[in-house]
Amino acid sequence: MKAISEILTQVSSVAVIGHVRPDGDCVGACLGLMNYLKLAAPALKVQVYLESFSESFLFLKGAETVSADSCDGQTYDLCIALDASDRERLGAFAGYFDHAGKTVCIDHHITNTGYADIMHVCPQSSSTCQVLYTLMDDAYVDQSAAECLYMGIVHDTGVFRHSNTTRETMEIAGRLMDKGIDFSALIDRTFFEKTYRQNQILGRMLTESVLFMDGLCVFSAMRHKIMEFYQAAPKDLDGIVDQLRVIKGVECAIFLYETAPQEFKVSMRSNKTVDVSRVAAVFGGGGHIRAAGCTMAGTVYDVLNNLSEHIEKQLIEQGLR
Ligand code: AMP
Ligand code: MN
Ligand code: MN
Repeated sequence: MKAISEILTQVSSVAVIGHVRPDGDCVGACLGLMNYLKLAAPALKVQVYLESFSESFLFLKGAETVSADSCDGQTYDLCIALDASDRERLGAFAGYFDHAGKTVCIDHHITNTGYADIMHVCPQSSSTCQVLYTLMDDAYVDQSAAECLYMGIVHDTGVFRHSNTTRETMEIAGRLMDKGIDFSALIDRTFFEKTYRQNQILGRMLTESVLFMDGLCVFSAMRHKIMEFYQAAPKDLDGIVDQLRVIKGVECAIFLYETAPQEFKVSMRSNKTVDVSRVAAVFGGGGHIRAAGCTMAGTVYDVLNNLSEHIEKQLIEQGLR
């Protein structure tokens, strides 16, 4: 696929969907595409469906029109899935996908399973927002679409710090800056700003973190009871694993939170050697080489033992153990 316009022939209605627990890239991509289509294809009916997301994204244009309704009875000529590496990641919105006349997936996960009629996956791209921009006609990217896309790039690159940041990332970000966005406020409001509760949780998880494998790995785990104590939602836990990753000497950081009794959502980050997408894929998850996730059953120690085995195997292959 070379351009969004290619997939719009004979299409009058579009459902745009993202992945469960939508992050900045996912929300930015869905709203960025919606705002773009409003200008590029004004006659098109476009509806975005997403689970509840961070309140800090609500200022984006069109955020108030997003529906969380997973069965409103609508069917669409086209369903576009963004930033979702497999069908399961579509969660409750898979119904719109299954019943659409035609399906398209635009993504950047190396573990993408190729589940749509038309696939456009660029694993070398920092973010789905970066991929999307390359498919857009710049003339129809207005300030509101630019804000959304810029936010997605900022979030998936950790503000242009991660190794997925390339010259192309910076060039596209530059073109989006040309649209007159207040990038500095956008970065502060959506990425760095934390609520008091989020900061307390971050502090607690750092205090309780444990180094293992001679300091090459670190983990921290959030139990359901503690989540309840802080009245924390999963979106309040963003950024904890990234702070664990920057501990000196650490190659691989693991953050777990309990989603059900004996069930944990796993987030992994690595620095130089370990391909965490391969580790996550063993347990039915996925992601990128340096950032990946999965859901696993068992106690914290079962989960850690199982992950460690695969991490250590890679460290041994690389001569680090
Ligand atoms: P997270 O640790 O949740 O921030 O996720 C890191 C990366 O891995 C993101 O690109 C996610 O899309 C991906 N990821 C996380 N969990 C899963 C999962 N269960 N299945 C597939 N990909 C995942
Ligand atoms: Mn995402
Ligand atoms: Mn992404």
